Amino acid sequence: MIHIVFDLPNTTVWNDWVEECARRTEELKAQGAKDPYSVVIDDLYKRDSVRKSVFFALTGPFKGKCAFCEVWLESHFPDIEHYRPKKGVTDENDNVVEIQDDDGSTRKHPGYYWLAYDWKNLLPSCNKCNRPTAEGKMGKRNRFPIAGTRATKPSDPLKAEGPQILHPVFDRPENHFTVNFEEDGDDSLLIPTTDDGRMTLKVLGLNKRSDLREHRASAVLKFQALWALLARPKDREEAHRKLKNLCDGAGPGTLAVRILYDQIIDSIPVRPWSRDC
Ligand SMILES: [Zn+2]
Repeated sequence: MIHIVFDLPNTTVWNDWVEECARRTEELKAQGAKDPYSVVIDDLYKRDSVRKSVFFALTGPFKGKCAFCEVWLESHFPDIEHYRPKKGVTDENDNVVEIQDDDGSTRKHPGYYWLAYDWKNLLPSCNKCNRPTAEGKMGKRNRFPIAGTRATKPSDPLKAEGPQILHPVFDRPENHFTVNFEEDGDDSLLIPTTDDGRMTLKVLGLNKRSDLREHRASAVLKFQALWALLARPKDREEAHRKLKNLCDGAGPGTLAVRILYDQIIDSIPVRPWSRDC
């Protein structure tokens, strides 16, 4: 996961969709006021034209990659995932989240149905991040652990929840992890530096998947090679352009190289690929 700069598209496809989503959200709220468990949510949130032109687009804000794990969407059966789950909520261990009514009785959380069509709650996701896998309990699914007070209806403040899973658009994942770049270290593993980083790592299984570890190690290798080329005048311009692309999120494994760029270069001056070479 990397930070995504989401500049709102100013296209007819996007604007019409957002307008319809707002109107239909009012319908969801009206249904939920009567019975939050029988709200009907349709496929408006994953309208094909919006998926293709924004959420899944190579030229879009997510650069054709999964918002959670950075793999290419095209080859991983992509879908639109709800950051706050639309129907039912579980904690990080897949236990159903219950809420308490005014009379003290408990019932299961109905899900954040009123956010089902809200673009701020929608993220492009690969199949490994949004579905149960045989490899273990990895993936987002209905999991949404929080540290604060759970919102249970549209009028409840979302800010009070304190989500423990990072949001790539509204959080800076780069500030929640580091990577071991010591000579004998394993640079394919993310090391969380905050509680939210730790929870995000656990829920998404970012260190458990061998494909992600390979992407990360490969990106770091590319970074090191390009950094070394910066010292050669004839290669400098091309290397700098490629280095910039690598950190801009043009390929998988970007989080590791952004951390490398931001944190390691200044603190470890003597490396084969350091600025001293
Ligand atoms: Zn993914």
